[in-house]
Amino acid sequence: MQKKAQLFTSKEDFINQYREECESLLSKKYDELQPQERYYVLASLIASKAKNFKVDAKKGDKSVYYFSLEFLIGPLLDNYLLNFGIRDIVKEGCAELGTTLDDLIACEADPGLGNGGLGRLAACFLDSMAALGISGHGNGMRYRYGLFKQEIEGGRQVEKMDNWLEHGFPWETRKNESSVLVTFGGQVVRHQDGERFWFTQEGGEVIKAVPYDVPIIGYEGKTVNNLRLWSAEPAEENFDLDAFNAGDYAKAMKFRSDVEAISQILYPNDAGEHGRILRLKQEYLFVSAGLQTILRSFEKNYGEKYGDKLWEHLSDHVCIHTNDTHPAMCGPELMRILVDEKDVDFDLAFKIARATISYTNHTVMPEALEKWPINTFRELLPRLYMFIEEIDRRYRDTFPHDRDNWQEELSQTAILWDGQVRMANLSVIFSHSVNGVSALHTGILEASTLRSFYELSPELFNNKTNGISHRRFLGNANPKYARLICDTIGDGWLSDATQLEKLEKYEEDPSFVEEFHKAKAWDKQRLADYIKETTGTALDTNMVFDVQVKRFHAYKRQLLNVFKILDLYNRMLADSSFQPRPTAFIFSGKAAQSYDFAKEVIRLINSVADVVNNDARVNQTLRVAFVPNFAVSSAQLVYPAAEISEQISWAGSEASGTSNMKLMMNGAITLGTYDGANVEICDLVGEENIKIFGLRTEEVDALRAGGNYWARDLYDRDRQRLGRIVDELVDGTLAHLSGNFNSIMDELHVNNDHDLVLKDFYSYVDAWEELTEFYGDRDAWAKAAIHNTACSGYFSSDRTIREYARDIWHIDA
Ligand SMILES: *Cc1c(COP(=O)(O)O)cnc(C)c1O
Repeated sequence: MQKKAQLFTSKEDFINQYREECESLLSKKYDELQPQERYYVLASLIASKAKNFKVDAKKGDKSVYYFSLEFLIGPLLDNYLLNFGIRDIVKEGCAELGTTLDDLIACEADPGLGNGGLGRLAACFLDSMAALGISGHGNGMRYRYGLFKQEIEGGRQVEKMDNWLEHGFPWETRKNESSVLVTFGGQVVRHQDGERFWFTQEGGEVIKAVPYDVPIIGYEGKTVNNLRLWSAEPAEENFDLDAFNAGDYAKAMKFRSDVEAISQILYPNDAGEHGRILRLKQEYLFVSAGLQTILRSFEKNYGEKYGDKLWEHLSDHVCIHTNDTHPAMCGPELMRILVDEKDVDFDLAFKIARATISYTNHTVMPEALEKWPINTFRELLPRLYMFIEEIDRRYRDTFPHDRDNWQEELSQTAILWDGQVRMANLSVIFSHSVNGVSALHTGILEASTLRSFYELSPELFNNKTNGISHRRFLGNANPKYARLICDTIGDGWLSDATQLEKLEKYEEDPSFVEEFHKAKAWDKQRLADYIKETTGTALDTNMVFDVQVKRFHAYKRQLLNVFKILDLYNRMLADSSFQPRPTAFIFSGKAAQSYDFAKEVIRLINSVADVVNNDARVNQTLRVAFVPNFAVSSAQLVYPAAEISEQISWAGSEASGTSNMKLMMNGAITLGTYDGANVEICDLVGEENIKIFGLRTEEVDALRAGGNYWARDLYDRDRQRLGRIVDELVDGTLAHLSGNFNSIMDELHVNNDHDLVLKDFYSYVDAWEELTEFYGDRDAWAKAAIHNTACSGYFSSDRTIREYARDIWHIDA
């Protein structure tokens, strides 16, 4: 084992260095600085330590490059202090200087460079690769504006610009000298010299991709990796000098802003981004810039060693992992560079690309798979398209025509089809490994979404159940509970999450249980304070904290959760003897700007909150809160406080989920469908420590295949209870904030309840009542909750990354 990083020898040493950094960075004394500046200096100090840190624990001589359009990294300071093992020294030092560390941490911007689970997964993977001593680097986009900031006005979501760079980002370093050029458009020209021929790209729009590097500090500071984020700028070559010289500054400047637009905004993932040319430019920019850099450094490091066999050894030293299909152009782009610029033979280049690239699929819904019109694609990337076309042609030509079902299989797996480039097929064909993100999800890929590929090449497929950074989501997010765990079983679990199993012995230990309750009460109070401050809604911390926090999407069924609340409300009013367990229902999450249905569900939750919270007949029993602007920072306040974790997507829709893992780790009990990683949570904790309800995947499939589900029947059959809830959407009961909910009614009646909200309603409410009944037995509840934490080590992303390293990247970790 390596020695821990020793950044500061003592509290005094820290204070001295901190004071000096204030003077050298801002030319002011510590005492003269505002909290925001104090934060900036502290983060800069830690970042500079990270940059100068001698990194030598890298395993082997193989590096992973994780390509992802999103890295939802969240605030870094607290996590890095934990990883460097200097949290206590810094905390005490700050206190002595007259500020609290928490106040400084609160000044940190939360970079919203991702939509949700997919981007957060990428960030957790970076943490784990560094913790495990893998040379593993991120490659992504530096969006000038993160995902919008969500505010709630009149119950509605309102989107505000997220200017996350307003106060600067102390963790990043601009590397102008590492900039590369990326070309869009132009013409492909064929050249010939005797037998030999080659192609060049002429003209087009040349863009300068400028990298900004963010250090990724691994646990115990043994390894510091790099997250490289690309920004688009006009290249001098291309600046409209004529316009500029002619005094047409407007034209010259318009060109600049057109280029900069490429890295200006992050697209929402849920609706309407398909077919936007700017999105395709983003995808190509970070792929091309990333690959150019990787190949340049590979050439530098190994050129001498391998001589003219250099490129055949690429996959011995480089793994390119593609997170979803957004980096699908990695395959053809790698080929393009090898063939056009490195003089590698076409077939060999394809072999090298496949050996180097691997792909993670994140979605089972065929309609959500990414596609681009061939015409758009070819016009923007003419040379790249030639490689795709040629690979597709050869794929068709060599397709085994003796297979029973070959025509169907070919139509399912070809890259080009129906005027479109199918990015998932592009990803599979250029990869030596395809993985899903939970056992259930991988099974669905094999049986349905990518079935033909699976039948042709089953050896390509493998499962890698997602994971989360337990250091961030338990160690940082839940300081009281983490402290209790350290005091009870030591701190070995921070590097080896499976050690959380040692808590099993304490599930019924009276003093541990009492301390567990205390930690949870503290977390609940902290969240209640935050909610009071941000929304004005007061929550009673004696209530059960029942939490559903995630992106808003029909398949995730926040609507089902609201229906349950309305049901409890109606029943309480109708029957005064009906007394459900007092519960605070806490929601948080953003809906894509253009996703009208999801936005209506947010408005519905806020309308129900307004009715319930202000009705004295029920508001000692039911409270509803909507926490605005869900982000990593607010998530870290919500997860620890949760007692019930709502994971209620219809079975077969959620690829994995990761908030289910974060919540179980923090001692919440899952109320969920048999979907995504809930299945594996159930296996691990046992059926008595989770509450599963609703249709199973096979039942959903059968129901849909049978074509005889009629939501309207369920409504008609029970006008007193379920039907009544549906009526309340449009009868004025909830209209006082900003109107009725006709579109939600239509979704149920006209669209026949695609997401099976009415179908799963009864089993859901029953399950909730049973679970909250169980809550009354405080010891039994604590036992189950602690058991959830004890079993959660499996869901550390350290475990996930070890599996990627072993099975996909072939690295010892
Ligand atoms: C973990 C996380 C998610 C993913 O939540 P799911 O419930 O798995 O969809 C989304 N956003 C943030 C900020 C997260 O931390």
